[in-house]
Amino acid sequence: MILLLNRNIPDSELKDQIYKTLLPVAALSLVILCVSDTYLFKLFVGKTSKPYTDMSEIGWNDFQGSPIKEELNLDGHIAYADAQINSTFRFKVNEVYNYPRVISIPVIDTKKSWTSKYSESLLKHERVHSGISLYFSHRVNELNKYWTWQTESLIEKADQLHDSLIVTQKRFDRETLHGTIKSKEYEWEERITKLLD
Ligand SMILES: [Zn+2]
Repeated sequence: MILLLNRNIPDSELKDQIYKTLLPVAALSLVILCVSDTYLFKLFVGKTSKPYTDMSEIGWNDFQGSPIKEELNLDGHIAYADAQINSTFRFKVNEVYNYPRVISIPVIDTKKSWTSKYSESLLKHERVHSGISLYFSHRVNELNKYWTWQTESLIEKADQLHDSLIVTQKRFDRETLHGTIKSKEYEWEERITKLLD
């Protein structure tokens, strides 16, 4: 721009130069910026993962993986799982000025989630699993109030919350016998819905 001005180019020609060179460059930069943002976001959440913000967003469309014959111990007798959801959260701790210290996004890995049965009660059960991941993702985002903490401490705390997420998912399946004890299933559904309110 400065070089162009120094050469004393007439106004009309200058405008022409701007349209011919600067605008395409600006447009291209914008495209690159957007593409790389999407690309980086994909890297962050995982190629086959889909972010979500509410349990109700989870549907059978998200269960695109092939069923795996997984043995379940249902109170002493062996059964096989009808579905499996792979939901978790992805988090990042930032050190950028004026930017959230911690960002966490709940995701469902659609290629690692599968079903062999399409019942409403089973979908409800899988949704509670997604709700548990969502709740712990919120807990990670709450770490923003400790913005003065060292990055290592924030990562450690988020990792601990991830461990708690796994423990809670297992407890939910254990206590409800994978959704087969209806009274317990209902209790969990209520509990998670309340926690997400
Ligand atoms: Zn389950």
